Amino acid sequence: ATPAATMVGTSIGAQNGVLFKGGDILERVRDVDTVVFDKTGTLTEGEMALTDVVPVERAADGGQLRERDATDAGDEAETERSDAETDLLRLAAAVEQHSEHPLARAIVEGAEERGIDLPEATDFENVPGQGVRATVDGDTILVGNRRLLEAAGIDPTPAEDAMARLESEGKTAMLVGRVSSDGDEEADAASDADAGEVLGVVADADTVKPSAADAVAALRERGVDVHMITGDNERTARAVAEEVGIDPANVRAGVLPEEKADAVESIQSDGRKAMMVGDGVNDAPALAAAFVGTAIGSGTDVAIEAADVTLMRDDPTDVVKAIRISAGTLAKIK
Ligand code: ADP
Ligand code: MG
Repeated sequence: ATPAATMVGTSIGAQNGVLFKGGDILERVRDVDTVVFDKTGTLTEGEMALTDVVPVERAADGGQLRERDATDAGDEAETERSDAETDLLRLAAAVEQHSEHPLARAIVEGAEERGIDLPEATDFENVPGQGVRATVDGDTILVGNRRLLEAAGIDPTPAEDAMARLESEGKTAMLVGRVSSDGDEEADAASDADAGEVLGVVADADTVKPSAADAVAALRERGVDVHMITGDNERTARAVAEEVGIDPANVRAGVLPEEKADAVESIQSDGRKAMMVGDGVNDAPALAAAFVGTAIGSGTDVAIEAADVTLMRDDPTDVVKAIRISAGTLAKIK
């Protein structure tokens, strides 16, 4: 393209909130044949809200979170049930108050809304892509995915029904586990109790951005292949993919932060030219590995720095705009 055409494209981009990091990037984008979306914060709002608290002994009978009201107060079983929920949420939120993750903030806000006082948590530790752990009331409390609990020697099976149900609803379900640290070695040796136990499940839900399905449809219309990668689990990932129209065969779930760049490289291994679209710190290496890296809207500075294209708005259809501007099919708007 001529320098004049490049200037026009760059300026149309700017008017549409699509920033190309230079004229060579503008030209490169038209060759993109594959778009890889990060899920959380990119296809979804990334604003989680706590939806369910399911103590493990209650896991079998469902367990939608209930507000305590006058009728419940008279009912002993209901009171017991909501006490168990309060205990579980109290422990989970105590650990999560030290995490900046959107999943964590939703849990803490949920506890605050229910007027639960949080105990202190010490020795906080974040395990990227898996969850968090800390000491609460003298025990180690873990909140995270199956991998996190299994690594701590906890069998998540008793919570599996609740996990499966919540995940198939598209929610991110997190296990809460406890490893008791009482110093009684004889008692520990005499039982399996020291291996720890799963206490229950808490779930957060995110909402898919209103224009995500339109963006996927418009890309597919242009013949662009659409993929999704996420650290979230397979079932939740598939529920979101189905909602936005991404082929389940193009979904990679349970991808650890350091594996995201490898996932992009493997998608590109047959010569595809992929645009990776992401928002988080976690996504920066994947943005750098892609043929074109695109940071979206409210994305972190790290993501924007690693990106070739920045979408100023939070709208996935701007991915289509970027490609159309580069291809010269989006006219200047006044
Ligand atoms: P994504 O790629 O969707 O942005 P992450 O890589 O940040 O997700 O996290 C992957 C998974 O690890 C989450 O779905 C959750 O199960 C678990 N996880 C991560 N951080 C936390 C946390 N602070 N509390 C509980 N679970 C967490
Ligand atoms: Mg993300």
